[in-house]
Amino acid sequence: MAGCALCPRACGAVREAGERGVCATGAEPVVSHVMLHEWEEPPLSGSVGSGAVFFPGCPLGCTYCQNHAISRSGAGDPLSEAELAQVFLGLQARGALNVNLVTPTHFAPAIRCAVRLARDAGLALPIVWNTSGYETVRAIRDNEGVVDVYLTDFKYADAALADALSHAPDYPRVALRAIHEMLRCTRPLSFDGAAREERLVSGVVVRHLVLPGHVEESCQALSVLCAEFGDAVRLSIMSQYTPQISEGSPVLDAFPELARRVTPEEYEAVLDHADALGFTDYYWQEGDPAQESFIPDF
Ligand code: SF4
Repeated sequence: MAGCALCPRACGAVREAGERGVCATGAEPVVSHVMLHEWEEPPLSGSVGSGAVFFPGCPLGCTYCQNHAISRSGAGDPLSEAELAQVFLGLQARGALNVNLVTPTHFAPAIRCAVRLARDAGLALPIVWNTSGYETVRAIRDNEGVVDVYLTDFKYADAALADALSHAPDYPRVALRAIHEMLRCTRPLSFDGAAREERLVSGVVVRHLVLPGHVEESCQALSVLCAEFGDAVRLSIMSQYTPQISEGSPVLDAFPELARRVTPEEYEAVLDHADALGFTDYYWQEGDPAQESFIPDF
């Protein structure tokens, strides 16, 4: 039994012996929620929905986590690999556009096994790895041939902000290396379906969530993405930040702006920067920023 090093924390928890790591989970895969998710990017959700499978726990643990109801605990239903494969097949039977594995990193070996079992049983949907971006190069390599689409965050280019809000000063360096590896391990962006860009079947989509009061840091993150990857990745700039930090948290003492939503002016400034950098095809969110409804009811 070796200590776990599935994510960059490499915290060494012996999960097979019942220890829980920084990600708050033991060895057995657990699923918190399964749904047809209507609010992912259009070629991921389509008209029916993305087949989202939410895993509890998270190696990154952002202070403002938008899915904190499940990311802070290991709560959910323990499933064997065969049962997980059946979940994937069930989503296919419901018409899902893909299998969207949300925060899968800390259960990666079991998930890969379940995908292979499901493929053998007829699963034909693209596999989407929906991650914080805090991944090791080894982990991405191990996914080669299993994952079709990476839906990854790039949260920060600034190490100090990554440290303050996610306790991960190495996030910018680690996430950039991971994205390079994602590009190496997947086919270029491609779509299928009758309409233009109807369904994403391969490639790397990089999400950036704009934080209230941090326009400058968002612009910095986009500049870094542009310099590193150009249009090899598809950018998704998100305005849906919803305050989730409890009142009285010391995080709010240091970052009181995180108690509010992103203003339309802030979001517009980040979009303007993307335009100025030369990004042409990117996803952005219409309407009132930060609708609570973007967060599934766990
Ligand atoms: S996946 Fe969890 S247990 Fe494994 S190294 Fe990361 S935080 Fe630790």
